[in-house]
Amino acid sequence: NPEKQTLGFQAEVKQLLQLMIHSLYSNKEIFLRELISNASDAADKLRFEAIDNSALFENDPDLKIKVSFDKEKRTITISDNGIGMTREDAIEHLGTIAKSGTKEFFSRLSGDQQKDAALIGQFGVGFYSGFIIADRITVETRRAGTAASEGVRWESEGAGDFTVEAIDKPTRGSDVILHLREGEDEFLSSWKLKSIIRKYSDHISLPIMMAKEEWDEEKKETVTRDELETINQASALWARNRNDITPEQYNEFYKHVSHDFGEPLTYTHNRVEGRSEYTQLLYIPAQAPFDLWDRNKRGGIKLYVKRVFIMDDAEQLMPVYLRFVKGVIDSADLPLNVSREILQESRDVKVIREGSTKRVLGMLEELANADEQEKKDKYLTFWNAFGQVLKEGMGEDATNKERIAKLLRFASTNGDSDAQTVSFDDYVSRMKEGQTKIFYATGESYNAAKNSPHLEIFRKKGIEVLLLTDRVDEWMLSYLEEFEGKELASVAKGDLDLGQLEDEAEKKQHQETEEQYKELVGKMQTALADKAKEVRITFRLTDSPACLVADENELSGNLLRMLKAAGQ
Ligand code: ADP
Ligand code: MG
Repeated sequence: NPEKQTLGFQAEVKQLLQLMIHSLYSNKEIFLRELISNASDAADKLRFEAIDNSALFENDPDLKIKVSFDKEKRTITISDNGIGMTREDAIEHLGTIAKSGTKEFFSRLSGDQQKDAALIGQFGVGFYSGFIIADRITVETRRAGTAASEGVRWESEGAGDFTVEAIDKPTRGSDVILHLREGEDEFLSSWKLKSIIRKYSDHISLPIMMAKEEWDEEKKETVTRDELETINQASALWARNRNDITPEQYNEFYKHVSHDFGEPLTYTHNRVEGRSEYTQLLYIPAQAPFDLWDRNKRGGIKLYVKRVFIMDDAEQLMPVYLRFVKGVIDSADLPLNVSREILQESRDVKVIREGSTKRVLGMLEELANADEQEKKDKYLTFWNAFGQVLKEGMGEDATNKERIAKLLRFASTNGDSDAQTVSFDDYVSRMKEGQTKIFYATGESYNAAKNSPHLEIFRKKGIEVLLLTDRVDEWMLSYLEEFEGKELASVAKGDLDLGQLEDEAEKKQHQETEEQYKELVGKMQTALADKAKEVRITFRLTDSPACLVADENELSGNLLRMLKAAGQ
């Protein structure tokens, strides 16, 4: 259909456009970063497809990005010779939001511009950020490998709809043309654009080129030459020497690979040699993404082979419980034509995954065990965002179980808030003399666990109890029998053995009491025969008259409730 078509944006796009223009206005120069990032992704995609089909290069193999502006027309153009888009691609990719988590994101919008502005950065805005400074965007594009007549012009004023029409486009790739809003002329400057590129896009591995400007001695003015110059360093950031990379460059690269607008919490960058040779640049985000719990979500690692982009979301490179990690792994050993299926089987991938897992745990330990308050705070930020995911590692990663256990944080009776800040090491350091076990209580909520009658005796004796109330806790506990030789014991299970914590006088008194009430207990046992397995005198309660306990080897009350709720 060569005719000009007018189509409506998906409802979410309209909402996003509105929100973005208002909330990101103070940070409007990011539009260039986003559009350059897309151009770079498009080049990566072309290079990857061309591994099997070099005809896609169309005798123009030097991938690059060109930024230009026109003072008279008041436009800025970002051109690439990457993969390009077909008409269908343009309609789909520029008219809808395909991101996972889109639903969750929009359901969280409150309508309060202030609050929503804070959310939008987390979501990432991409292409649409052009509308912050443009009141019209034209995209002229042609998919690599198609005829010149298959070009497409996509155009929109960023309100409710956009148009698409067929055009002739001799060169492959995309030109994104921004028609500036009134008052945005500051961007029609070579100096301004260059400084934005250096600030945000220096890490891009392709050359980003602009027309050279030179002082003309005769004319006594700066003139624009036909010649182009490269503005950025144009080498893959992860392949550079660590000492040559500034923290700002690391942060900008994070935003590029993660589609997150915020800064990462921390990162690790290493070249690994040995059984397998690879470079890893891995980041821990500061905030959980909207789709953290999405089961279909893949990992956040981009795989490169000798600088050639191979795939996004290479989930085999990182265990599932570390799915929040973002970054790049560049292997020197894998074949360029590696597929997801091959990755699954590969020995090299296994070595990389093990190495990367150790690095990530090391990065977390460095924060968790630091003396500096700043790092400690970062660890708690991490824990609040991703702690529940990390707990999955207790069951998933038997090799690193002990390291993960040391990274766990809990609420406990030692404090009086639901903040999860207590480690096993903290707990052990506060254990009472004669205490051999680590006690914990589970519950549906912090308040339920904290107010459990089972805790009364512990309170009386001043013994700390960990309060476990996350959904994954019961499951995790089934993989966690002990910590450094100290058995983990539920306060709600079995015959509570406080061992040496009970003194001789107490024991004697308990025996006497049991003797005294033997008859009553017998009667109750008969009366409750079909409801309770056993009735016994307890000394664990101080205020409540009675409580239910589970048998040592039975499911706890909380787990039973969960299973029932899940229809089991
Ligand atoms: P994201 O980059 O996170 O996918 P964007 O909003 O930045 O989101 O871009 C949306 C989609 O539009 C991209 O995923 C891509 O498919 C397409 N796209 C944008 N710019 C280009 C480009 N220069 N060349 C080819 N495709 C592009
Ligand atoms: Mg993008």
